[in-house]
Amino acid sequence: MEITKAEFVKGSSFESQCPKPDKSEFAFIGRSNVGKSSLINMLVNKTGLAKVSSTPGKTIAINHFLINDSWYLVDLPGYGYAKRSKDLRKQWIDVMDEYFSKRENLACVFTLIDSRIKPQSKDIEFLNYLGEKGVAIAIVFTKLDKNRQHESAINMKNFKNELLKYWEELPPIFATSAVKKTGRKELLEFIHDVIKSDK
Ligand code: GDP
Repeated sequence: MEITKAEFVKGSSFESQCPKPDKSEFAFIGRSNVGKSSLINMLVNKTGLAKVSSTPGKTIAINHFLINDSWYLVDLPGYGYAKRSKDLRKQWIDVMDEYFSKRENLACVFTLIDSRIKPQSKDIEFLNYLGEKGVAIAIVFTKLDKNRQHESAINMKNFKNELLKYWEELPPIFATSAVKKTGRKELLEFIHDVIKSDK
């Protein structure tokens, strides 16, 4: 699949404000600084579509982008922002729980994991939560650049092993680099296949 058109549709504060669920939807989420904006921009080949590290964590917005007039790419608010107030953290839980429970056209939640760091309990807990809710997930390791490749390989292996303590089977896994455009083809192919099987 090639991306020929990518446009911002709207930012929603609640699931009820999201666009009509008439197209397959693919959401991206991860801890702050995981490389989510960079990955989205790399996928759609458009610098600046998703904002890279602007006022991190200040608002809870579900951002919808319409791709090729046929599917939604959703930039979800991240988790694990140290600077977020207690109120905002509670709001994040409520808004996201409603989104994951109700969004009927949600085809997959790509959960981004930084390949440069050791497995984090926040990420494992979040994946377990999605699993319990029965949400379809895929794991996207980020920042797989040439340097520190060995370290990344160890981190990814440890992460998978950690996850296997809770899961019988691993979800689809992608290794990406926004800098090198690694994994772009694979991710877009996966999205294409899921859309095809949804129809
Ligand atoms: P977000 O907060 O999850 O949206 O993360 P950003 O996309 O803003 O990226 C956070 C930081 O990681 C920025 O300094 C990016 O330049 C850097 N970054 C993101 N993706 C990559 C990548 O693939 N490779 C490298 N080396 N750095 C990256």
